[in-house]
Amino acid sequence: MFLSKIIRPCLFLALLFGLAAGARAEEAPLLAYGARIAGDDARTRVVIEFDRKPEFFVHYVGNPARVIVDLPETAFGLKPEDLRARGVFTEIRYGAMGAGSSRIVLTAKKPVAISGASVREDEGSKGFRLVLDAERVTDARFAELLGEQKWTGSVAATKTARSVEPASNGEFVIAVDAGHGGIDTGAIGADTKIEEKSVTLAFAQELAKTLNEEAGIEAFLTRDKDEFLSLPERVHIARQRGANLFISLHADTLKQHDIRGATVYTISDKASDHLAANLAERENLSDEIAGVALTSEPAEVADILIDLTRRETQAFAINLARSVVTSFQGQINLINNPHRHAGFRVLQAPDVPSILLELGFMSNKDDEKLLTDPAWRKKVSGLLVEAVRTYRSGKTADGG
Ligand code: ZN
Repeated sequence: MFLSKIIRPCLFLALLFGLAAGARAEEAPLLAYGARIAGDDARTRVVIEFDRKPEFFVHYVGNPARVIVDLPETAFGLKPEDLRARGVFTEIRYGAMGAGSSRIVLTAKKPVAISGASVREDEGSKGFRLVLDAERVTDARFAELLGEQKWTGSVAATKTARSVEPASNGEFVIAVDAGHGGIDTGAIGADTKIEEKSVTLAFAQELAKTLNEEAGIEAFLTRDKDEFLSLPERVHIARQRGANLFISLHADTLKQHDIRGATVYTISDKASDHLAANLAERENLSDEIAGVALTSEPAEVADILIDLTRRETQAFAINLARSVVTSFQGQINLINNPHRHAGFRVLQAPDVPSILLELGFMSNKDDEKLLTDPAWRKKVSGLLVEAVRTYRSGKTADGG
């Protein structure tokens, strides 16, 4: 949306004046190079400095109360201390949302409203300041604001609509899903401070490459760059591409720093244990972190056939999880009871056997070292290809 608004006038100008160089500069993402925040529990001002005039769109999401500022694609050159939450805000995140858009999510302690939002030209420099004033409001007023706004989750909607070509060549299709991304960084490494979203992307790229070397297999990535995808979008992309399997990759942190090794998760209503339940709860927060309004699931699944499919899908997912555990055994570290289950929202495709693989824990120094090691990625990718091979042969033997 933003992209088309911005690019069209640029193209027009470039054509009109032949300013090819100028057009190239405009294509670079907006740069946010500075920010400050001041205020108290009643009123807070946020100022963000950009290299050129930003188009922006402010809206609200409830539970918890959040102010969302949507921007065109933006490079955030901010120091963490520039925009540390204070005043009415308890948490501030910013990052890429994909499809040429970025976002700032300001989570509030209590309901707030934006009483002023404006862009001002900086005197003395070529930059522009976006100034947002937030103030505490009553629950009733916040509910009114939510009701009044026309916003219907356009960023996510635009992205879901992107064209994805279904595979039609009879290949066995595998969706490789790098957990987190963009505004949702995931866990942070204890030692290296590396973000889970980059660990999962590097691994996903290696795994997809290795799978694609296998005859009859076509692997693709749900995301191939640092962008945010909501959990339903990940499922949607896999189904649109006609995936036969879905593998979501993660590397989270635990409070217990001595726990290390890989875990394979399948979906279930009831979690197998506390660790699994906590982890699923945290993973399911991804959409909330990114300020995506939670909507009810699409009505396409209210069917007894879907129920039967679900059961069959679940059986296949469990087979895959077992194959993965078998191929990992004696090769890489596994936690106790390495096949666990919980209500992960990203595993809920009714017709695509799905697993979530915790490659290891970034809260453990030894795991962290391995997770960022290209040789280890290669080794584990090879083991996963083996697991897929076993899974496929088993499936054929069962007549499935
Ligand atoms: Zn994760």
